[in-house]
Amino acid sequence: MKYSQLFIPTLKEAPADAETASHQYMVRAGLIRQLASGIYSTLPLGLRVLRKIENIIREEMNNIGGQELFLPSIQPAELWKESGRWDFYGKELLRIRDRHDREFCYGPTHEEVITDLVRKEVHSYKQLPLTFYQIQTKFRDEVRPRFGIMRGREFSMKDAYSFHADEESVNKTYDDMARAYSNIFERCGLEYKKVEADTGSIGGARSHEFHVLADSGEDEIGFCNTCDFASNLEMAQRCLPTKTNASENQTPPVVKEISTPGKKTIEEVTNFLSITPQEVIKTIVFESDAGLVAGLCRGDREINPIKLKKLIDCEWLHSADQSKQADDIAYGYIGPIGLKMPIYADAEIMQMPQAVAGANKTDFHLTGIAPQRDLSQVITGDLCFARADDPCPQCSSGKLQVKRGIELGHIFVLGDKYSKAMKANFLDSNGKEQTMVMGCYGIGVGRTAAAAIEQLHDEKGICWPKSIAPFQIEIIPVNMKDEETVTVSENLYYSFREKGLEILLDDRADRAGIKFKDADLLGLPVQIIIGPKTLQEGLIEIRIRKTGESISSPVTQAIEETQRILATL
Ligand code: ATP
Ligand code: MG
Repeated sequence: MKYSQLFIPTLKEAPADAETASHQYMVRAGLIRQLASGIYSTLPLGLRVLRKIENIIREEMNNIGGQELFLPSIQPAELWKESGRWDFYGKELLRIRDRHDREFCYGPTHEEVITDLVRKEVHSYKQLPLTFYQIQTKFRDEVRPRFGIMRGREFSMKDAYSFHADEESVNKTYDDMARAYSNIFERCGLEYKKVEADTGSIGGARSHEFHVLADSGEDEIGFCNTCDFASNLEMAQRCLPTKTNASENQTPPVVKEISTPGKKTIEEVTNFLSITPQEVIKTIVFESDAGLVAGLCRGDREINPIKLKKLIDCEWLHSADQSKQADDIAYGYIGPIGLKMPIYADAEIMQMPQAVAGANKTDFHLTGIAPQRDLSQVITGDLCFARADDPCPQCSSGKLQVKRGIELGHIFVLGDKYSKAMKANFLDSNGKEQTMVMGCYGIGVGRTAAAAIEQLHDEKGICWPKSIAPFQIEIIPVNMKDEETVTVSENLYYSFREKGLEILLDDRADRAGIKFKDADLLGLPVQIIIGPKTLQEGLIEIRIRKTGESISSPVTQAIEETQRILATL
């Protein structure tokens, strides 16, 4: 393409709300424009990138037997009521009504729609397994849309769903998907990590996320420095000591109530009593569908609600609203002894020889609590977030390192969560009715483009990997008034095109400085600089955007040299 014919509205300044490099560069390089909060138009150059990512995804999905289809984005409420998610999904679900006052939603995901299709069309084990996928626009009314298309409200996703007669079959497709995802991110030129993940509101049994490591990432990933363990910190297991180190020969502590007026936080209590947070039991009250429950952890730890929810085996849970002060809950002074609600404790608590906790009485705490003696009735488990330097839960000899990541893909074994609720059944080889087993698998297309920029940019602009760059090469004639420069540039442009290479010719009459700046901002992998000075010796310059390395090449060898360089990228 010629620059003069392409709509590339570059900007010198990024919008004030653009916090991340990818958001800034996507706007500045003319890839996207905002329409409303979290809602973006994709401009021609941006669309070229998305199409490339989509094509890589398509090839990999087709390779593992995925069949592309296209489902409606407007979905009837009845299906969501059947699956139970209409009430559950909350405000992220954009609910709409038609002229007959019927309820619909704009699809944030498509488990219900695909399950409805399959239950109507598939009735025999002979038709299974099946894997469908689509690349389509989703809408999620995110609380905090930000970082451009990285966390939009309207965004493009590849979502795939698989249907099976049994667990073995779904696990095989899951493994194929995991491999396909690795291929996709590798082919996109990204450094990624496959990590164990929580199954979240989609529900299910087995789940992994694919993350690109970047400081701007919203997730924290824990890795072992010794083995291959990698997990999203939101669910990473901890390595909890099985044996007690509470010394038996010590004199047993005596529980004493002490006055701690106005000392509510761990910091206030530890300062007041001159003790460490490791000697305090933190008690947090949660509201859940199982009623009020309390979680206990050591004062230096944080309770992970996802782990607590799993231990309780409840549907939803969030920390109790302290403004709705109940008479019998002394917020700031809550403790496990005498608290009238089910109590769940992080197993680390049981290692504490003695501890301080709230006395369930305003302005008082208890000292001398011996958890093994005094809290023997509470249910224990791994309830806290893992953190840096914790021992690895897989090999126990290594230590966890923590880095930030951007979630690009998420794969799940769903089991029968949707197929059971929506009665997606089939007849097995014995003619017996069985429930289908499902898997689901998503990749954010726009988020992948943004993450690529997050991972590959410098202070001048984007450094696209060649597989997803909008074009592979940019020819920059430095002086459009020089006839030879223009002729050589155009000839090269057409020769490259004949070879099937994607090339952008900056045929604007602008100064060379402007063209160089824009070229660095757009970030095409190879730049070919053509000007009267070097042409006198029959030479052009070929420059690698990412490294800044450049070589001189005779005009006659330009194509071979460029192809050689591209092959190394
Ligand atoms: P997140 O935790 O980031 O909200 P999610 O767990 O809700 O993601 P999934 O439901 O698993 O995401 O969706 C599959 C993929 O869709 C994600 O891995 C991500 O790449 C993409 N995605 C999800 N939400 C958004 C969004 N708001 N904007 C852009 N892409 C998104
Ligand atoms: Mg989400």
